[in-house]
Amino acid sequence: MQNRLPLTIDPTKAAQKRLDYAGNYLAKNANRLSELVENVNSDIECSLSFGFDEQRLCVISIDAKVTVKLECQRCQQAYDKLIHVKNKFSPVKSDAQAEALPEHYEPALVNEFGEIDMLSLVEEEIILSLPIVPVHDSEHCKVSEADFVFGQIPTEDDKPNPFAILASLKNKP
Ligand SMILES: [Zn+2]
Repeated sequence: MQNRLPLTIDPTKAAQKRLDYAGNYLAKNANRLSELVENVNSDIECSLSFGFDEQRLCVISIDAKVTVKLECQRCQQAYDKLIHVKNKFSPVKSDAQAEALPEHYEPALVNEFGEIDMLSLVEEEIILSLPIVPVHDSEHCKVSEADFVFGQIPTEDDKPNPFAILASLKNKP
């Protein structure tokens, strides 16, 4: 087990050596993520492992956790959320290779040197896991669900019964 995470790595060479890593990517280096959230509260705690599957495909397993500060879209207060991502990737050089991957692997693009930018891959995965509309759990939110019901929603009883209307028409002289 290596405890310094690689910034870039040749995934095939790493898989041949069956390398495993566990460590942190520093919050201050997660530039793209920090643009999308109020704050990146923790370093990205990450484990990576490289190997080959039974089809001899190179596989990169990623498990990463980070706590970020988001703004609740209901009450506008900031709150902390733990984002945990877990996924398997396989290196590709082109879109065609990405299309051909088995469904259970995500493509990880290698650069001209045959390397993958690991921080960028992990960050991308975290960004994809951010809630589209961040909101508190209802028990923590300053705005209750009830405040979001504007006006009266008619209940079953308020709606005119179509058969009653029909009956009243029939009874007309
Ligand atoms: Zn809220």
